Amino acid sequence: MKLEDTAPQYDAVVIGGGIGGMTAANRLAKFGHKVLLLEHHFELGGLAAYFKRKGFIFDTALHGFPVGMIKTCRKYWSKEIADCIVQVDSIRYDNPQFCIDTTYTTEDFTDKLINFFKVTPETVESFFKACQSMDFFDDREKTTLEFFEEYFPGRSDIHRFLMEPIHYANGSTFLEPAITYGIVFSNFMSKGVYFFTGGTDLFVKMCREEMEKNGVDIVMQATVEKILLENGKVAGVVANGKEIKTKSVLSNANLKATCLDMIGAENLPADFAASCKEMRLSTSNSQVFIGIKEGVTLPFIGDIIFHSSAESFAPEEYIHNPPHSRSFSIYYPKCRPGYDRYAIAASMGARMSDWENLSDEEYEKAKENLIEQTLSILEQKLVPNIREITEYVEAATPRTFQRYTLHKEGATFGTKFEGLKVSEDLPKAVPGAYHAGSVAIIMSGWLGAANYGVIVANQLDEYLCKA
Ligand SMILES: Cc1cc2nc3c(=O)[nH]c(=O)nc-3n(C[C@H](O)[C@H](O)[C@H](O)COP(=O)(O)OP(=O)(O)OC[C@H]3O[C@@H](n4cnc5c(N)ncnc54)[C@H](O)[C@@H]3O)c2cc1C
Repeated sequence: MKLEDTAPQYDAVVIGGGIGGMTAANRLAKFGHKVLLLEHHFELGGLAAYFKRKGFIFDTALHGFPVGMIKTCRKYWSKEIADCIVQVDSIRYDNPQFCIDTTYTTEDFTDKLINFFKVTPETVESFFKACQSMDFFDDREKTTLEFFEEYFPGRSDIHRFLMEPIHYANGSTFLEPAITYGIVFSNFMSKGVYFFTGGTDLFVKMCREEMEKNGVDIVMQATVEKILLENGKVAGVVANGKEIKTKSVLSNANLKATCLDMIGAENLPADFAASCKEMRLSTSNSQVFIGIKEGVTLPFIGDIIFHSSAESFAPEEYIHNPPHSRSFSIYYPKCRPGYDRYAIAASMGARMSDWENLSDEEYEKAKENLIEQTLSILEQKLVPNIREITEYVEAATPRTFQRYTLHKEGATFGTKFEGLKVSEDLPKAVPGAYHAGSVAIIMSGWLGAANYGVIVANQLDEYLCKA
C-alpha cells in the first residue's frame, strides 16, 4: 500500500515494523481494530534484519533466543511460524579463562558448573532457584555482580560463564539490576537456545502475510515525523509530510525519539519530559558478515561461539574499540533448508562515539580494520583457511544501525532499565500514545520485543474499547 491510499481514519497507527511493532499490529488487527503499520525502511523486521549480497543472505540478529519464542509465535502469530523454531546444537566459549562447549540447557549448565568449575550441587541449585524466582517487583538496587558474588564469591571465571551469553543477548552488564539477569537467564536456561529455520527473511515474510491476512494496512518507506495531539490526546500522525488521522499510536520506534521528537518535550508533562531526557540508551553493535565460497563445506564448530581475548568479563572490554570480544554465529545449510551456502556473522559491542565523527575515508578504513581483525581471529582460532574460502565480506557499524532503524546512537537494545517506566507511563502522560519494543533490557531480543508488543497491544485495545 502507498501513503496516498491509506484510509481517512485509523483506530491505531503502529510506528515501526520491528518484532514488537509487527506483533502488536497483528494482535490489534485480530481484535478487530483498523490498523496502519508505517515503516521507515523498505523491509520489515527492524533490527531483526536480513540482506542479500551476491547470492548470500545474511541475518543481522538471528543468533538465538529462548524456547518461549515457540509459545509466543504459536499463540500470537501462527502454528506455521512456531513450527520453524528449532533448538541449536552447541555453544562454545573461548577465552583466556576457559574453553567450553555447552548445549546451554539446565542439565548441561549444571554439569559444567559442578564438574568443570567445581561448585557444589547445592550452590548450583540455589542459584538456579534464585534466578527462577525473580520477577519485576523484586529488589532493583542489587546489581548482577552483587547477586553473583552471593553464590560464587571471587569467581570471575564463573561470572563470565554466566554473564557472557546474556550480555550478547540483550546488552546487559554486571552493573544492571540483578532481575534483568535472572529473568532473561531463566528464560534461556529452561531448554537451551533456539533458532528460526529458514532465516529472518522467511520469518518476516510469514509475519507480513499473517498481518495482511488479518487486515493490517502496511506502508513501507513511510517515516513518522510527528504524533499529533488534540486536547492532549493522540489525534494523528504525520508521515513523509502527510497527515493521517488515528485514535491512538503504538510506537515501536526508539523511545527517546518517540517522546522527545515525535510528540515533543513541550507537549509532555514536565516531570515526564525530564525522565525522557534522563533515560540512558543502550550501547550499539558492529558486525562483520562473511560469505563462504560455493562448494566449500565448513566443519561443524558450534552454532554460536563467544570468543574473547579479555582477561575477564568487564563491561568496558565488551565495547572496546578495537574489539577484544565477539560472538560468531555460524550459518550452516541446515539453517536455510534448500540453500547450501555457509555464512558467518561476527557481532561486537560498540559505541556510536567511536564511529560518528570519522570522515568518509576514516570510516572506510575503520571498517576494513574491523574486517581484518575478525578474519584474523577466525584464522587463528576457528577456521584456519578462512581467507582462502571467503568470497564476500562486509561490515556494519553503529552508523549502519542508526541509518536503517533510526535508533538514536544506533542503540541496539533500546534503553537502560529506567526506560521501562518511561515506556509504561507514556499512555498516562499522553492518552492514546503507547510504546512497545526493545526497552530496559528485559523487553529486548526477539522474545522480549514480541511479548512486550502483546502486552501493550492488550492495553491499547482496552483504551480503544473504552473510547
Ligand atoms: C547485532 C544484533 C544481534 C542480535 N541478536 C539477537 C539474537 O540472536 N536473539 C535475539 O533474541 N535478539 C537479538 N538481537 C536483538 C533483537 O533483534 C531486537 O531486540 C529486536 O529485534 C528489537 O525489536 P523491536 O520491536 O524493539 O524493534 P526494532 O527492531 O528496534 O525496530 C523498530 C522499527 O521501527 C522503525 N522506525 C523507527 N523510527 C521510525 C519512524 N519514525 N517511522 C517509521 N518507522 C520507524 C525502524 O525502521 C524499525 O523497523 C540482536 C540485535 C542486534 C543488533
